Order: sequence, then C-alpha cells, then structure tokens
Amino acid sequence: MTATRIVLLGPPGAGKGTQATNLISDLGIPHISTGDMLRAAVEAGTEVGLQAKAVMDSGELVSDEIVIGIAKERLSEDDAKKGFLLDGFPRTLAQASALEKTLGDLDAALDCCLALAVDNEAVVARLRKRSEIEGRVDDNEETIRERMRVYDSETAPLLEFYRSRRVLIEVSGMGTIEEVGKRVRDALD
Ligand code: AMP
Repeated sequence: MTATRIVLLGPPGAGKGTQATNLISDLGIPHISTGDMLRAAVEAGTEVGLQAKAVMDSGELVSDEIVIGIAKERLSEDDAKKGFLLDGFPRTLAQASALEKTLGDLDAALDCCLALAVDNEAVVARLRKRSEIEGRVDDNEETIRERMRVYDSETAPLLEFYRSRRVLIEVSGMGTIEEVGKRVRDALD
C-alpha cells in the first residue's frame, strides 16, 4: 500500500520542498506547506500575515495557535480527504498532538512520518545557495543558524513522538535530488 497521509520532517534545507513536489505528482495528493501558506498570508497582508512576518524573518516559529489554525482549516478542505503531504507542519509537539487529534476527529490517522536526515554543514551550504537563487529573507547565514537551532530544540523531538507511534521512516537526504527521491519512493512502497 502506498501511504497517503504523510508528514515530511527534516531540518531547514533538507530538501523537503523539492521532494514534496516530486512526491505529490506521483501520489496525486495535495501538498500542504504551512510555510507557503504563511508566505501567501504575508504577501496578501492578512491579519495572520501581519502577525507572522517579523517572526518568520527572524527564523523563529510562528505561534502554535496561528499555525494549528491554518493547518486545521486546510485539512478540512475537500481535496485533503484523499490524503495529503504535510511539509513544515507539525514543527512542535503541541502541533503534533493537535494534528493527531484533528485526524482522530476525522476518523483518520497518519500513514507515515518521512524524516529526511542531513548533515548540518551541508544544509547551511544548500540554504546559502537557495538564498542566492530565491532571495528569501530568512535564508541569510545568521537566520539559517537560528532556524537550525529552533529545529533541534522544538522539532527534532517529533522524531521520538512519531517513532513511538510506529510511523517513523528515516531516509538520508544527502546526495542528488534524484538519489534522495529514489530512496523516498522505495521507503514508501
Ligand atoms: P518553511 O517554508 O517551512 O521553512 O517555513 C518558513 C517559516 O514559516 C518558518 O521559519 C517559520 O517561521 C514559519 N512556519 C512555517 N511552518 C511553521 C510551523 N508549523 N510552526 C511554526 N512556524 C512555522
């Protein structure tokens, strides 16, 4: 069976976005990225966007309340019934518990948490390159280090959380996009 409700986990720069884009075209499920939704809110100048902008630019996490709210709303949309690939959510244990509860209320459960493992210095180099290409404000070196620190303290504990739920699949995120993509597909089959 191919999993359809997936959480993609990994430090900033692990290649989550790239792998997510390839996976959803294979699996035919929506790609739900809270980072993309927040950037869209900033762009549109909504209330959420106004509250989130400074936090995002500094590399910190937007409050659980805001992020859980937008994730829940998105997960209740029709297209998420056939499954989803969550990218960048959950990022804290409170978010993981909220997701578990939301899915439980829908009589659904996560099929797997796919965690991309990468080497920290490789990540910094990758993100520096992305900042040159995309010009993301949160990709300068200082912010990158901050986002990695936040990942280690707030998000890395989710590996244990999902291991205890017996849904954790760890895949090396090192190598080319194609190499990692093949590992990811093999792991999901
Ligand atoms: P991303 O594109 O996933 O790297 O997200 C960019 C930024 O948006 C992060 O550095 C956070 O400031 C914010 N963000 C995205 N998703 C979350 C989340 N699940 N919880 C808290 N903040 C988030």
